[in-house]
Amino acid sequence: MRAAVKKELCIGCGFCARSCRRVFRMTDDWTAEVYADVTEDTLELAQFAALKCPIKAITLEE
Ligand code: SF4
Repeated sequence: MRAAVKKELCIGCGFCARSCRRVFRMTDDWTAEVYADVTEDTLELAQFAALKCPIKAITLEE
């Protein structure tokens, strides 16, 4: 499974990178990016990050 961040929407709160640091990280311009596929081990936290992203900028796709 793959996560995606709509960078044009991201407000840089950092929540996804803090809550699921094995999939999301913050870039130098302080927007989130995905740097790893979502695995069985990270699925629950990636779903949590997507659910709690304040502007719903995160999607998860097969
Ligand atoms: S939780 Fe959403 S708004 Fe916050 S950094 Fe991640 S993608 Fe951006």
